[in-house]
Amino acid sequence: MSQPVQTFTPEAFHRQAHDALGNPQIRANFRKAMDGLMDKRRQAFEDWDLEALRTLGASVRLRALSRLPDLLEQLEAKCEANGIHVHWAEDGEEACRIVTRICQDNGARSVIKGKSMVSEEMHLNAHLAEAGIDALESDLGEYLVQLNEQTPSHIIMPAIHLNTDEISTIMHEHTGTAPTRDVDAMTAAARAQLRERFMAADVGVSGVNFAVAETGTLCLVENEGNGRMTTTVPPIHIAVTGIEKVVENLSDVPPLYALLTRSATGQHVTTYFNMITSPRKEDERDGPREVHLVLVDNGRSRIYQDDELLDTLRCIRCGACMNHCPVYTRVGGHTYGTTYPGPIGAILMPHLMGLEATKDLPTASSLCGACGEVCPVKIPIPDLLVRLRRESVGEGRGNVPGAGVKRSAKEVTAWKSWQWLATHPAAWRGASIVAGKLRGLAPSHLGPWTECRVAPKPAKASLHTLIKQRAKHKDRRQGQQEDEA
Ligand code: SF4
Repeated sequence: MSQPVQTFTPEAFHRQAHDALGNPQIRANFRKAMDGLMDKRRQAFEDWDLEALRTLGASVRLRALSRLPDLLEQLEAKCEANGIHVHWAEDGEEACRIVTRICQDNGARSVIKGKSMVSEEMHLNAHLAEAGIDALESDLGEYLVQLNEQTPSHIIMPAIHLNTDEISTIMHEHTGTAPTRDVDAMTAAARAQLRERFMAADVGVSGVNFAVAETGTLCLVENEGNGRMTTTVPPIHIAVTGIEKVVENLSDVPPLYALLTRSATGQHVTTYFNMITSPRKEDERDGPREVHLVLVDNGRSRIYQDDELLDTLRCIRCGACMNHCPVYTRVGGHTYGTTYPGPIGAILMPHLMGLEATKDLPTASSLCGACGEVCPVKIPIPDLLVRLRRESVGEGRGNVPGAGVKRSAKEVTAWKSWQWLATHPAAWRGASIVAGKLRGLAPSHLGPWTECRVAPKPAKASLHTLIKQRAKHKDRRQGQQEDEA
């Protein structure tokens, strides 16, 4: 029996967060999973000078970004020389059209996909379905959420919101697998189902973790072997990636790889690390006959032009900021209603979707700073959240689509009045006395702000008055004591 399709949107963030907080199963699933991931990460870095490694990772990413246009041209030239066809896509729509055209040109009806968040960002599966092309996710977590007609709730572990019983039900209802709590049995069943699809697929679509400009090498990090199957079994391989994933040379990869695996899953190395540099050569027995690389911009060039927001592009998509975020771990990934949830989503999605749709995401943070502290490439996430908040009320540089959407004349007037009062002591004292006398008239409901809070009332007396009263009281007691003596 098919599950009802759940639709989550960033515009409905408040309602979705409310629903998630009232769902003990979601909270328990995320709490358990995130506690485990935080612990694994901590252990994985125990024998390392983490700060030195983070500094190295940040400098590698910054160096690559400082030369991004040159490196992209170098990557294109090198890939083409290696026999990889390179395509440029301005946005997700164009990227989908490119992938669909390659499929159609080759008469493809069936696509197998390795894990790719950029393909999620592009909504590639829906686009291919419209063209009559069937796309199946082969990452186990992605396979499960696809069966369940959901989207990933985490960028590294797409099905982290599901527990064993829920997965058993999904597999039973959608694939006929006998109900079981045996994880190995479910994995074996999924492997058998996917194996057939790998062998029959016309095209494999994958993501890219690092694209090396020096050699034209596409690096793919994974644990299940599905990435290797996707990129070697079908006759055509299409890799899709954001333009920011380029690095300068091969020696840049090991530090980023070390940071990525430890930060993401607490592993020292992943089970598979794939390096793809060309299609199958004449003397080789396997591999695709054609390899395509689709470089997707989708708002990244705009981010690149702002020297503060540029830091967003350092991201290596490890998910650590999500695992450590007190908001994400309580409401889960679907609540955000965006391809990238959690702190990375809050700083990236406003650029991809505009602040009109995502204005509540940068404020879905207590600014505790945990995300910035664990980010392996030292992205100043809290600073970027503050910057986006400023943009949303029209106080930034106007470099984000939808800037100023939250600007409210009432709020501006209120803050300007507050500022004036706070800088005029006599007026402040007068206002404090009046507010203290009229405190009984203060409203107890202030819209959404008091949904989870008690409205504050003006104090009966100001701090200055209280200090004066206390000093008088002290003098009086002292006088009494002297009289008694
Ligand atoms: S922002 Fe940092 S911690 Fe978050 S996914 Fe990107 S690299 Fe990882």
